[in-house]
Amino acid sequence: MFQKVTDYFNSINWSHPATISLLIILGGFFLFSILERFFPFKKGLPYFRKGYFLDLVWYTWIQSILMGIVIFSLIIGPVRNALNLPAEGIISHWPLWTLIIFFFITHDFYIYWFHRWQHHNKWLWRTHEAHHSVEQVDFIAGSRSHVVEILINQTIEFAPIILLLDVPTGILVKYIKASIDAIYGQFIHSNLNVKMGWLGYIFNGPILHQWHHGDQVEVYHANFATKLSLWDYLFGTAYNPDRKPDRYGVWYRFPRDWFAQHIFSVYRFNVNKVENSSGLKWYFNLRLNFLRMFLKKRKDVSASVEKRLNEAEIYGPKPELAEINDQ
Ligand SMILES: [Zn+2]
Ligand SMILES: [Zn+2]
Repeated sequence: MFQKVTDYFNSINWSHPATISLLIILGGFFLFSILERFFPFKKGLPYFRKGYFLDLVWYTWIQSILMGIVIFSLIIGPVRNALNLPAEGIISHWPLWTLIIFFFITHDFYIYWFHRWQHHNKWLWRTHEAHHSVEQVDFIAGSRSHVVEILINQTIEFAPIILLLDVPTGILVKYIKASIDAIYGQFIHSNLNVKMGWLGYIFNGPILHQWHHGDQVEVYHANFATKLSLWDYLFGTAYNPDRKPDRYGVWYRFPRDWFAQHIFSVYRFNVNKVENSSGLKWYFNLRLNFLRMFLKKRKDVSASVEKRLNEAEIYGPKPELAEINDQ
C-alpha cells in the first residue's frame, strides 16, 4: 500500500503547469480557510456555511472538471484544428509577461460588460442568479456559477489564448491565467476585512465584491468588476459605503441543489413545494441522513448534535419571501 502511494507520487510531473496550477489553487484554499478565521469581514460566519458542500463538491470539483473537458476538448481544440492556424502561433513571440497582462486586461474588460448585461437582461440573469444565490459568502462561494455562464465566459477567455499561441505557450498561459482566476476569485469572495487603500481604485477586493453579493437594492446594479475595480470607477458603477451588507443572496426563494438550480433557470417551479415533497426532501437531506445514520450506529448522538442536525434541515424561505413565492 505504502509502495503504491510512493509510486503514485513519483509518477506525478511536478513541473507541469497543470500540477503547479492545482497546487496554487489548493494553497489558496488553505490560506483563505485560515485567514477568514482571523480577519473576518462579517463576524460569525461558520466554516461549514450554508451551501458549502454544494459549492465545493458540485461546482468546484464536478462541474469544473466536466466543463474543462467540454470547453477545451470539444470546443476550442476542434476549432483550432479546423482553422489550420500556424503551428508557431500568431503572437507567441510576445514576451510571456506581455501576454499575461494582455489577456488579463482584455478578458477583464469583457467580463465587466457581460456581467453588467447579465444584471440588466432578464434572460441572461437566469445564467447568473445561481452565483448570487449564496446566502453566506466566503472564498468558495465564487465557484457557484451556472454551466451556461461558465461555458460562455471561459470559452471567450481561453479561445484567444489557444488560438493565437503555439501549443506549449498556449498551455503555459492557460494555466497561469487559470491560477490567477482561481486565486483572485477566492480573494474577492473571501469574508476578509481587507482595506485596499488607493489600490482599491484599480484592483477589486473582497469588500466591493461582498457588497455585490448583497441582497440589497442599492447594489443590484453595482460593483460588476471581477479583477479590476477600475472599470466600476470609470463607468460609474462603484458602490463602497462605510458599512456592511445586512444580508446576501437573491430576493426570491432559490433551489438548494445543483440539478434543481439548473432546472429552475429554464423552468420556474414552486421551490417550497418541490423541496418539501417527501421523496425529494429525503434526497436534499441525503448528507445529513447519512451523518445521522453514522452517528446513530455509534450510539453517541447527543441531544445537542441531534438539535443541530434538525436545525440544519430547516431550510425555509425568509418569511417575507414565502408569500411572494407561493403566489
Ligand atoms: Zn453579479
Ligand atoms: Zn461573485
